[in-house]
Amino acid sequence: MGLEEKLPSGVLLTSVEKAAGWARARSVWPATFGLACCAIELMMTGGPKHDLARFGMERASNTPRQADLMIVAGRVSQKMAPVLRQIYDQMSDPKWVISMGVCASSGGMFNNYAIVQGVDHIVPVDIYLPGCPPRPEMLLDSIVKLHDKIMNMKLGKNREREITELENARLGLRPLHLAVPEGTEL
Ligand code: SF4
Repeated sequence: MGLEEKLPSGVLLTSVEKAAGWARARSVWPATFGLACCAIELMMTGGPKHDLARFGMERASNTPRQADLMIVAGRVSQKMAPVLRQIYDQMSDPKWVISMGVCASSGGMFNNYAIVQGVDHIVPVDIYLPGCPPRPEMLLDSIVKLHDKIMNMKLGKNREREITELENARLGLRPLHLAVPEGTEL
């Protein structure tokens, strides 16, 4: 028998972790960061048809200090990389990043010296969104998935434990088997 059954109806029990996750997920403010053609789809998402405002996210921040979500829309040039990192550093904690489109996620078809081959070389990425360009519906889906992630984010000691467990799981992975012919020196 749980405590809830002894309480009068209308009383809601939760944890600080869940309440903080709920509040954070419902107050995400994106920083404007359109770099190339994907940014057109990002702008479309804010329009009346797709209605980003339903998540309370229509206020795209022009100052990083009042933003906690960076949506990297488009390819990141080597010249833009330090600027992107500086804006990320200026954003308030906790903060999240969506990499929108193949160019932002992996360099896409721009496999050359001028383009960073994935924005995760510059900032940690929470959600990778495939497509060239991803449609606004796909961006909305990734935002909903990010909300789920934020809602289930642990706090304090629980978060440290979760990070340690993830790191240990990664370290425990077996490396890929490399077939080396006999007598070959690596
Ligand atoms: S993924 Fe496609 S639409 Fe997006 S920036 Fe690259 S080329 Fe442009």
